[in-house]
Amino acid sequence: MSVVLNEVKQAEYIIEKGEVGNKPTSTLFLLGKYYRLKENLDKEHTFNKLNEFMENNYKNYNSALWEDIIEDISKKANKYSLREITSIGITQQELNEISEINNLKYQKLLFTMLCYAKLYNLISENNNGWINTDIKEIFRVAQVSVKYRNDKFLYLNDLERTGLISFSSKNDNLNIRVNFVNINGVFVINIDDFRELGYEYLNYIKKGRFIRCTECNRLVKKKSKHDYSTKYCSECAKKKFNEQCKQNMRKLRHKQAL
Ligand SMILES: [Zn+2]
Repeated sequence: MSVVLNEVKQAEYIIEKGEVGNKPTSTLFLLGKYYRLKENLDKEHTFNKLNEFMENNYKNYNSALWEDIIEDISKKANKYSLREITSIGITQQELNEISEINNLKYQKLLFTMLCYAKLYNLISENNNGWINTDIKEIFRVAQVSVKYRNDKFLYLNDLERTGLISFSSKNDNLNIRVNFVNINGVFVINIDDFRELGYEYLNYIKKGRFIRCTECNRLVKKKSKHDYSTKYCSECAKKKFNEQCKQNMRKLRHKQAL
């Protein structure tokens, strides 16, 4: 699951669409927080809501197998916080720093790390530009692919040499500090979705090459400049296709029955 800026909006989307996703426990945890903290339900009502959600949306749901997990989530979810950030603003000065680096892959990585740093700065006042996101995740949402796994470290080393980022390897995991966060500038890009940060950057520098999925709002690359037929991201396109198939089958059976 990518980082979610607005967990309230995300929870409402999941409830509306009935989407359990491929990590049911994470989904239940998010909904648990939503019911306890946003809807102010007590643990019993939250338990019922979560159970009902699974009954309606999880294939072959067996409530006995899930009872302990749902009970635990319903009991503890109110001890956490529900993130409700509208967007992360990027300034012209920050974009200028990025565009100084003459390599599109590096630019996408810098933009992605900048977004994470600004998010963590918002969440924690004393963060000061540090990110401790998994490197795999950074490359994935930046849409930067490498031939060999080691290349990821080579890229980051190159970027460290520019002075725009620096490293610290406390506690065994690599922490990266973004050194060009600008706190006073006017925002020229507002990011409200962390799933495709590399594309968000390209969408800014090359206008008209992307669309937003009409179902889930994910940024999707158009097949060509004049592609007006793409409406969905690959995930939603698959779901739509399956729904259509089911509908056609139902129609066919109905016809045969007549
Ligand atoms: Zn979609």
